[in-house]
Amino acid sequence: MSKDFLKDAKDHYDVIVIGSGLAGLTSANILARAGYSVLLLEHHYQLGGMATWFKRRNGHIFDISLHGFPIGMIKSCRKYWTQEIADSIVQLKGIRFENPQFSLRTTFDRQDFTNILIKQFGIEEQVVQEFFDTARKMNFYDDQSMNTRELFQRFFPGRDDVVRLLMEPITYANGSTLEDPAITYGIVFSNFMSKGVYTFEGGTDKLVGQMKAEMEKNGVDLRIRCLVERIEVDAERQVTGVVVNGRRIGCNAIVSNANLKQTVLKLVGEEHFDSEFVDETRAVRLNNSSCQVYVALTPGESFEDAGDLLFHSEHSGFDIDAMLRRDISSRTFSFYYPKTRPGSDRHLVVSSTNARYEDWADLSEEDYQKSKADLVESTLDCLQQYIPDIREKVDHVEASTPRTFKYYTRHLQGASFGTKFEGLNVSKSLPEHIQGLFHAGSVGIIMSGWLGAVNYGVIVSNNVDKYLTPAPAQV
Ligand SMILES: Cc1cc2nc3c(=O)[nH]c(=O)nc-3n(C[C@H](O)[C@H](O)[C@H](O)COP(=O)(O)OP(=O)(O)OC[C@H]3O[C@@H](n4cnc5c(N)ncnc54)[C@H](O)[C@@H]3O)c2cc1C
Repeated sequence: MSKDFLKDAKDHYDVIVIGSGLAGLTSANILARAGYSVLLLEHHYQLGGMATWFKRRNGHIFDISLHGFPIGMIKSCRKYWTQEIADSIVQLKGIRFENPQFSLRTTFDRQDFTNILIKQFGIEEQVVQEFFDTARKMNFYDDQSMNTRELFQRFFPGRDDVVRLLMEPITYANGSTLEDPAITYGIVFSNFMSKGVYTFEGGTDKLVGQMKAEMEKNGVDLRIRCLVERIEVDAERQVTGVVVNGRRIGCNAIVSNANLKQTVLKLVGEEHFDSEFVDETRAVRLNNSSCQVYVALTPGESFEDAGDLLFHSEHSGFDIDAMLRRDISSRTFSFYYPKTRPGSDRHLVVSSTNARYEDWADLSEEDYQKSKADLVESTLDCLQQYIPDIREKVDHVEASTPRTFKYYTRHLQGASFGTKFEGLNVSKSLPEHIQGLFHAGSVGIIMSGWLGAVNYGVIVSNNVDKYLTPAPAQV
């Protein structure tokens, strides 16, 4: 008989959280800490969503999305998780750019970027300061009509080298392009520029392990291998429960951390919404997906300091099409040293590229395996520029594609960074259409990435709290 992953689960909870990405985990933890009974349902065998890792023989551990996030994670983790989690967040100081236009190393903060823009790129100091101040002041309530291309055109006309320096890392971080609203760029770029790029010392497995322990302490009922098939809604358009692994479980509120479009169009179903909202949801564009190549050196082998994050490219200027193409000319290398997991002796490299789902979706199994093998080979060729003897030192190498991300997270088209900007409005307004139904997860570019997902989980759990326990009326 197959194992019952819902054994001893109750028939009713105050809140059910669907999905254990960083937004789902954070919502579950905050709501349980506030005293609600919370059931967290994750279809995969591991918690974390895109914040994940995998192990291979010889004790190699690969992190999938631990490349870098802004300093704001320290405050969010301290307030909504634990001091212990916040204390493991450390800065990565070796950010490199290698492309036909420039070669440089930076700590990726405002001061260092200001120096580089003035000294290396010859931009006037006043222009640089005005650009940073403009980006810093941008917020969600600003005019959203200007796009990022226009923002750069205003400050750095004709300078595609400057655009590349300012834009390429953000595109890698969240899939945004020059056509997206300038505020999405301004908010994310300024978050990084405030103090640089940070990582979690100890690896994603340690982070998620500590989060799991905290949730258990706060009483979250955690269930893996539990696929939610349906969100149940009554005639009053109010959530009443979910169907998971064939069993119905009731609840007063739901936080869906599943893909936004999937939540509305599949898990709830179009018939429960007004047609305008269905159209608005259908029109939401997904962000791109990713390919990665994971390279582990033989235990005991190492490489010289190659930086922490290296933005490598072979084409000229910022070119989103070239960044997404299957014949890859742009890669971000994350170099992992023993310091990533103190106590280990391992050196690893993860190469990430933005990718289009449709380029991989319909390949036959044979072509798919061949394309993955080509991806591995071309990545090792490229990596030889930075680690000349990499091929002799490799112990394990493998690749993932948009199909992999789709398989493990169930995101439509394997979207790595949620949706374009318009997804935020659909996500935020969901409770206005179905009472008790909330969405928390990467949307709108600004709510994606580790920090965006955690912070959106905080915002949404506050809304759930208000819904479940309305403030008493003033007399
Ligand atoms: C290759 C790559 C590199 C990245 N690098 C970085 C980086 O360096 N820095 C950074 O800040 N961000 C990075 N990101 C982005 C970041 O990892 C994500 O934005 C963030 O982790 C997403 O969190 P989330 O809460 O939106 O949920 P997700 O991680 O998308 O998780 C959703 C969860 O819901 C589960 N689920 C879905 N449907 C169901 C269902 N029906 N029933 C049960 N469970 C369900 C899924 O299995 C999954 O666990 C990267 C992403 C990728 C793919």
